[in-house]
Formats: sequence, C-alpha cells, structure tokens
Amino acid sequence: MSLRFAARMESVPRSFIREILKVTQDSSIISFAGGLPNPDLFPVEAFAEAAARVITEDGAHVLQYATTEGYQPLREWIAARYRDRQGLNVTADDIVITSGSQQGLDLMGKIFLNNGDTVIMESPGYLGAIQAFSMYGPKFVGVPLEDDGPDLDALERAVKDGARLFYAVTSFQNPSGLTYTREKRQAVADILKGTDVIFAEDNPYGELRFRGENVPPLYGLRPENSMLMGSFSKIAAPGFRLGWVATSPEIRQSLVTAKQAADLHTGTVAQRIMYRYLMDNDIDQHIARIRERYGRQGRAMLAAAEAYFPEEVKVTRPEGGMFLWAELPTKRPIMELFDAAIARKVAFVPGKPFYVDGGGDNTMRLNFSNASEEVIDEGMKRLGECIKAHLAG
Ligand code: PMP
Repeated sequence: MSLRFAARMESVPRSFIREILKVTQDSSIISFAGGLPNPDLFPVEAFAEAAARVITEDGAHVLQYATTEGYQPLREWIAARYRDRQGLNVTADDIVITSGSQQGLDLMGKIFLNNGDTVIMESPGYLGAIQAFSMYGPKFVGVPLEDDGPDLDALERAVKDGARLFYAVTSFQNPSGLTYTREKRQAVADILKGTDVIFAEDNPYGELRFRGENVPPLYGLRPENSMLMGSFSKIAAPGFRLGWVATSPEIRQSLVTAKQAADLHTGTVAQRIMYRYLMDNDIDQHIARIRERYGRQGRAMLAAAEAYFPEEVKVTRPEGGMFLWAELPTKRPIMELFDAAIARKVAFVPGKPFYVDGGGDNTMRLNFSNASEEVIDEGMKRLGECIKAHLAG
C-alpha cells in the first residue's frame, strides 16, 4: 500500500533550522543557531500563581469552550497597549487571539492566497512565514532589505506587478535584526496606498528594543487591507502559544471563520492564565529586564564581531530583538564554513534558506539571547578564526 500526500506538501520546505539544531544539540557546542527566548527570564513562579488562581477561582469557566475571537479582557488589554504606547487607533473588537502569531500567518494564507498568487517577502525573510505561506502554493518575490528597511524600487516593482500580499517584520527582524526607520515606514505606506495589496506586519520583537527610540508599527500608516500580528512569546513565554492579529472588521470576519475551522478557539486556560498574570504582575518591569539582558548580550556579540571578524565581514547593528546577521565577502559555500565551525564547536544558521529567490549563500544568522557574554565572546572568537580560514581558502 502506498502513502499519498496532498500535492501541496511537495512545495513546503521542511524546517531547515530544525535540521541544523539536531547537529547543535551536543552540549559542548556554543550555539548561536537557536532562536529561542532566554528561559532564565521566564516568570515561572508568577505563572504558577496565576495558573492556580484562575483554576481555583473560576475553574468551570476556564475549562469550558469559549469564543473564537478570544478572551475579551485580554483583547482589551492588547488594544489599550497599542493605543497608549503606539498611538494606534485599535479597539478590542479589532483583535483576534491566535495560537501564536504563527497561526496568524497560516490563517492569512488561508483567507488570501490562491495557488500562484504572488507573495512579497523580505530578503532575507522569516522562515516560518515562508513555510506557512508555502502551504497555499504562492509564487514568492524577494525584496532586498537594506539597513533602514526594504529596497523601495524593488518593492514598488513587485507591487505594480500585481502582488497579492506583502509580509514584513518591521522591527528587529528575524533573521537580520534590522528595523525599518520612520521614513521607510512612511515610504512603504505611500507605495501601498491605493493598491489592494494586503500588508501583513509581524511584530513579535517590537517591545524588545534596547537601543534608540520606539518607532510605531507601520500598520498605523496603512490600516486598510492590513493586518498587524503580535505575540506573548517573546515578552512572556512561548509555551502558552498566545498571539494575536489586529485588523479591520472585514478581514476579521473571514479570519474568524478560518480560525473556527482550524481550532474553534485558542486555549482558554492559556488566555486566562496570561490575563491573570498581566493583572497581578508588572509586565513592563519584566520586559525591561528582558531588554536589559538582551541588550548586554547583543552588545557583547557586536563587540566580539568587531574584535574577531575580518573587517570585510558586514554585520548588522540591531537595536533590539535576538538576532544579528553577517555577510561574508566570498562565493565559497557557507556549508563548508558551517562544518568547520561545528568542528570548532560553535554553530550558526546558514542564511540561504531565508531567501525565497536565491542568493544569501554568503550569509549567516547569529542568535545572542541564549548565551552569557563570556560564552558569546568565546564562541565569536572561534567563529572569527573559522571565517578567516574560510576566506583564505
Ligand atoms: N514571526 C516571527 C518573525 C518570529 O520570529 C516568530 C518566532 N520565531 C513567530 C512569528 C512565531 O511566534 P509565535 O510564538 O507567536 O507563534
């Protein structure tokens, strides 16, 4: 008997990072390959208390089915934060709670993408989005990322060519660490103005700024035909699988229908515990701790890159988030460098899979949220030696 899968499975890339992480499991390897929040910072006790409280005090409701849109007080909390901190005109009704922001990406594909539709991705772009959209058989077009945001000419061409959707991680991007400036945000909004291109802004790292001034989401400049995704994964804990989408009533209606079909609603227990945690604790103080730690780690990685990498290696200078991106001046396949680095017990993620239209074979993603400053220094020293040998070879 043969096992037959749907045709769509043929075009979906398996998670390359998962494969890489298998190699880096060895605890003697200093790994900059991961992409996880630092677990030392999870507020374990506060969540234990919140969990006990909601189940003891309101167990019958907490354990019951609930509405697809999500727990109303949690939706209100998210909307108020957008209004107070980002000046966005968002109400609780605009918010749909999702099972991680990753589910927002899948639902977006479900409601907007037909086979063969064009999706504009940043080059490099978020691998999880490439994977989620691939399920719907789109054609991808890459728009190069520059230090201050996307290449506007390339974006304008892709928009004029009839793209269906533009997906962007506008702050402290995964994988590059780059952030769109205010000016580029406005320029992107201007390019999209009057077009029917769906703009999907994914902002899970937005609150993790450790340098410079807050820049509000682009969503505020182009609310029509747009979706803004957020997440509790990086500011609290990813294990809850709690994210959200902010969008217009028209889009929300379809989104809710698609979500209903997918999972009825996001877990009530998770939503109620998160809300209790937010009420009983000072999340801003918690986020400040994360920013302070990632800031130190990010600065340590950048300083080490300057000290140990050859000058011709270009590295980004993230103002927040968890990643730094390096570009080498060579055509030599980066997998050779990856193998050499593993032999020296240091790991990174080769950048090629983050490009939907080729290229990137001279790039790498480095995660700094999971190692101490001393370990970062040692790992970068080893990696610097490997890079020098790679460039000389
Ligand atoms: N978008 C981006 C850009 C991410 O980096 C991640 C996490 N790796 C996600 C979405 C998924 O986050 P969540 O845990 O909210 O599903």
